[in-house]
Amino acid sequence: MSAAKKTETAKKVAKVQQDLGMSTKDIENGFVHYLYNTLGRNVDADLEYQFRALSYAVRDRLIGYWKKTWNEYNETDCKKAYYLSMEFLIGRSLCNNLLNLGIEDEAHQAMYELGVSLEEIESAEKDAGLGNGGLGRLAACFMDSCATLQLPVMGYGLRYEYGMFKQRIQNGYQVEDPDHWLGFGFYPWELQRTEYARKVKFGGSTHLFKDPHTGKLSTLWEGTDDVVAVPFDVPIPGFKNKTVNTLRLWSACAEEAFNLTEFNAGSYFEAVAQKSEAENITMVLYPNDVSENGKELRLKQQYFLVSASLQDVVCQWDKNHDGDFTNFAECNVFQLNDTHPSLAVAELMRILLDDYAMEWDEAWNIVSSCMAYTNHTLLPEALERWPVPLFQKLLPRPLDIIYEINRRFLKQVAMKWPGDSARFRRMSLIDEGNNVCMAYLAIVGSFSINGVAALHSQLLKEGLFHDFYELWPERFNNKTNGVTQRRWMAGCNPGLRALLKDKIGEGWITDLTQLSQIEEFVHDKSFRRAWMTVKRENKARLAELVKETTGVEFNVESLFDVQVKRIHEYKRQLLNILHVIHLYAKIKRGETDKWTNRCVIIGGKAAPGYAMAKNIIKLVNNVAEIINDDPEVGDMLKVAFIPNYRVSAMEVICPGADVSEQISTAGKEASGTGNMKFMMNGAVTIGTLDGANVEILEAVGEDNFFLFGLKAAEVEEIRKHYNPQHHIDNDEDLRAVMTLLESGHFSQFEPNIFNDIINSLKSPHDPWMTLADFRSYIDAQHKIGLAYQDHEHWNTMSIINSARSGIFSTDRTMKEYNDGIWKLDPIHLG
Ligand SMILES: *Cc1c(COP(=O)(O)O)cnc(C)c1O
Repeated sequence: MSAAKKTETAKKVAKVQQDLGMSTKDIENGFVHYLYNTLGRNVDADLEYQFRALSYAVRDRLIGYWKKTWNEYNETDCKKAYYLSMEFLIGRSLCNNLLNLGIEDEAHQAMYELGVSLEEIESAEKDAGLGNGGLGRLAACFMDSCATLQLPVMGYGLRYEYGMFKQRIQNGYQVEDPDHWLGFGFYPWELQRTEYARKVKFGGSTHLFKDPHTGKLSTLWEGTDDVVAVPFDVPIPGFKNKTVNTLRLWSACAEEAFNLTEFNAGSYFEAVAQKSEAENITMVLYPNDVSENGKELRLKQQYFLVSASLQDVVCQWDKNHDGDFTNFAECNVFQLNDTHPSLAVAELMRILLDDYAMEWDEAWNIVSSCMAYTNHTLLPEALERWPVPLFQKLLPRPLDIIYEINRRFLKQVAMKWPGDSARFRRMSLIDEGNNVCMAYLAIVGSFSINGVAALHSQLLKEGLFHDFYELWPERFNNKTNGVTQRRWMAGCNPGLRALLKDKIGEGWITDLTQLSQIEEFVHDKSFRRAWMTVKRENKARLAELVKETTGVEFNVESLFDVQVKRIHEYKRQLLNILHVIHLYAKIKRGETDKWTNRCVIIGGKAAPGYAMAKNIIKLVNNVAEIINDDPEVGDMLKVAFIPNYRVSAMEVICPGADVSEQISTAGKEASGTGNMKFMMNGAVTIGTLDGANVEILEAVGEDNFFLFGLKAAEVEEIRKHYNPQHHIDNDEDLRAVMTLLESGHFSQFEPNIFNDIINSLKSPHDPWMTLADFRSYIDAQHKIGLAYQDHEHWNTMSIINSARSGIFSTDRTMKEYNDGIWKLDPIHLG
């Protein structure tokens, strides 16, 4: 194309973009256009089609900004960060995209004028559930904040056909249904980008090869089964700032001319079967939020993500810089979300060594100065380890490289600690059971290693990674998690948003510390009344969700006590149930003096293979049934297990909570982010000194937080002589609870089904030491009951919790990642 023609075309494109417009009329026209002309439906079509039409109209309005952002990043050749994550728990996008484009009012009005409801259309959107829980949701919040801060950050993940399973409750038990979220292949927010497809190798073998011209030795990885990675891009708009970043999700696809030799040999069936095996790689998200060790397909998924993403970045760089890698490490940084993508260390080495014929030292200098690793867990059993034979079979070339990394690393260890063979063995990337330790690979290959809350980062240095901390103290740092207030306040709590707008404007949407201004109104009568009204309305909305999904009726006057998160023993949903049983026992004994009516909500998914977690769900449901059906209990106590806890459910749940349950065994929860969502929306926390609870307590003070339980160091001390029977013998209330539980009262028709739970609680080896915290938990809950009776006092605590939640915005978290690790310049788009 000639230069003149190019300019002319660019002008035409700009004109078409401009004509799209953001007015009510423009949106109405866009919606009607897609509904009639593209989808062939009428305005009274199913909500599903209304949703499609509106989301297309909204996407049209993102694409111009999206292309401009992309071009600006490439043309200015700025430093970029890449967030590598096996999970992005996005949830719904329509409401969020309208908010960030600044066109919610227009969209609302446009739909109103056509006689349809924006709220109903929004609730027709399926959650993009490409994650298990906190780690995946964190990645999604990070993407939102980076775009809002105008940081050139790209997300890389996998486009699973099946996201997190849907949870149903049948006879009290969890049942898993597949989540085919793409429906009939339709997700309005993605754009397929076949032109950026990459090839990923598996299997085969490696050989040394001498270049006949240069005489240089290099390694060939041959005889591989290749899988094509096809990217699907999802736009990530910043808040009203014309930045639209990219989340690139890879989908596995068999090669076009797959396995021609077998095909021609007449093995048609085997060849097609291999095609489906290739495409299996991105078929399903592993539903385990802790770790999935030893599963071949999971290792394939990890390498697939890492290889496709790194090739993508390196090829782009090569093209723009004519193969000159001098400044590569200065201009690119990869953030590894947990150890899942830690193969990136070996893969970038492989690309530089094998594809660009670089020398080891030069390649290692680049790799180890552009990788950064975030650790998300303190549970040693959650650290990923892969058997060497599995590695050898699937990834022989990356394994060669890991061996060489390890050889050179152990030389360094031996130099620093001569003769310390125990330490030498402890630190090897290959453990004594012949597994590759992924966390150590990530540590050795990264210039930055961070934990996700102050306590967690401290405990990493003292415990799990102590040896590495002694070797490289300068690499270790803390980045306390956050959540995005765009989704978790502005989007999900319109009542609160309106009230805040009236009092302090809307600056808090991009600077959450401005929430502190509402403390000035803490004694303002009309503000206080309005605050209470908003909470009341949100409780009514939550009560409706409970009624719809469980049939249980909640009275909005009662205290709403909420624990929603993945079901795991360390999170101690059991402790919560013990308290519920205690309240029930008190009612039955007639000890209802100064009673506070309470509605307890528990929700969360259990990994399908985690028997104890599934049993805990059954126990909650059985206890709930007995209590809810007892006329003597009535409104004094209600219990509901909300099925299928997910992002869109949390958007209704967190605004309606009075009490936020954050009761993990101290030293076990890395950060938690649910705790922050509740706090922002004015819930008061009952919690242990664990994860980010420590920082929440510091922000609100002991008067506005119900602290209980052993501290992390005490847990480890007492563990040595933990005696749960002693607690039972010396605590009348605990004894009553255990007696009731053991009597079979909650499993009358299925005797003994809770034996494993009872035994674990009574075991001196219970890792979570639940009974050790029973008394202080019950006492803290009792204080909550009394505190709630003073509605004015409770309201003050609620306001203060929200007012002081400013530091828990991911805008703050991302600024810290950028200042401390990435060092990107914001790119302002005009
Ligand atoms: C925030 C969130 C989580 C994390 O909750 P924690 O209480 O921090 O474990 C998990 N799942 C969903 C759907 C969330 O929105």
